[in-house]
Amino acid sequence: MISIEMDFKKLVSELTNKVRTEESKDITGRTLELLKEYGLFGILVPKDFGGIGGNIVDTTYIIEAVSRVCPSAGAIFMFHNQVVKRILEFGSEVQKRRYLPYIATGDIIGASSWSELNAGADKQGLKSYAVKENGFYKLNGNKAFCTGAELADLYTILVRTGTQPGRELSFFIVEKAQTGLSFGDNWDGMGMCGSSTKEIKCKDCLIPSDNLIGKQGQGRALMSANRKVALHPGIIGLGICKEAINLFKHELNEKERLWDFQNTRMQLADIVTQVEALHELVYKAAHLADKNEIRSEDISLKAKIMGANVSNQVTSIILQLFGANGYRIGFGIEKLFRDSHALGIMGPTTELCKEFVSKIWFAEEETYA
Ligand SMILES: Cc1cc2nc3c(=O)[nH]c(=O)nc-3n(C[C@H](O)[C@H](O)[C@H](O)COP(=O)(O)OP(=O)(O)OC[C@H]3O[C@@H](n4cnc5c(N)ncnc54)[C@H](O)[C@@H]3O)c2cc1C
Repeated sequence: MISIEMDFKKLVSELTNKVRTEESKDITGRTLELLKEYGLFGILVPKDFGGIGGNIVDTTYIIEAVSRVCPSAGAIFMFHNQVVKRILEFGSEVQKRRYLPYIATGDIIGASSWSELNAGADKQGLKSYAVKENGFYKLNGNKAFCTGAELADLYTILVRTGTQPGRELSFFIVEKAQTGLSFGDNWDGMGMCGSSTKEIKCKDCLIPSDNLIGKQGQGRALMSANRKVALHPGIIGLGICKEAINLFKHELNEKERLWDFQNTRMQLADIVTQVEALHELVYKAAHLADKNEIRSEDISLKAKIMGANVSNQVTSIILQLFGANGYRIGFGIEKLFRDSHALGIMGPTTELCKEFVSKIWFAEEETYA
């Protein structure tokens, strides 16, 4: 159920075909360039602000498609859309008017920064802080692992605004050109190599008070609202799985005898069953989020858990079925294997998702008949 009038699926398939056939050296850069050219950074931006006015199902479809050709670009695009949603839901009218028209054209890409070294899953341990001073907030501290850092133009940064560590948290909009803002070294992760995941350093950054998102102290509420939005790394996992299956089909054409092994056929049947179930869960979460239904949080968390787990398993099994070629760089599957292993760690981590899911389950009155 695509909400926008244009031949949207055709557009996305044209974009991904271009990335595949052009063989650019910088696949992530080229994918982002095309997303901008096609106006897709504005997928969630309402038409009044010059955007496409799409919904979460549309956005999920693009994240999935982009992740098939470039999981790093899928991650950058996913976090960008989390930022857009945050501004739409909690931003002031001034913030919307100031940023949304540029987001719609792709001139502003957003990134979301909450993690710090030793305070990723545990927001209680956040050390960076902002203090109110003469109509500004003075922001200090180092943020870690921000996807799209340095590449993005606008950051929503979560810091402490109370005196007690981690108690009172708030989100601020910080522009790339902000004095005192700098970035760490290039990402040395085993996967997601194009994701520009880096440290962000804030040294006496004077942020105008009206760049606070929502109210002071609403940071946790904004993080929990983010879980209901259904834009999560499980979608990237779905794209990775579908691409891995395609690679395997291609390999089967080259090595027909693989299909003679019963093990290959059984493994393949298990894989496509799991991926189909993942697809249903991912899009169910997106539909629920579009309808603003309370269950969207529970289903999104489950889709994130499943997306990370299934993509880890699928890429691992297919790598094995490929034989030695699977282990070689250039055959594609080892890259998908490495990229998929970031998904369980990307927030909320799979373990944290399980904590949330179990709490929701425990609080529910209904039980399985
Ligand atoms: C590729 C990539 C991209 C990322 N992009 C971003 C980004 O854009 N913005 C951003 O802010 N951060 C980003 N992160 C950081 C990510 O959100 C954190 O790494 C994550 O929250 C975990 O934090 P940590 O690394 O400090 O591990 P820790 O919090 O120390 O966790 C270590 C282990 O303990 C588990 N654990 C922690 N707390 C609990 C608990 N309460 N119950 C059970 N288990 C628990 C974790 O699940 C994990 O397995 C990214 C990370 C990666 C790998």
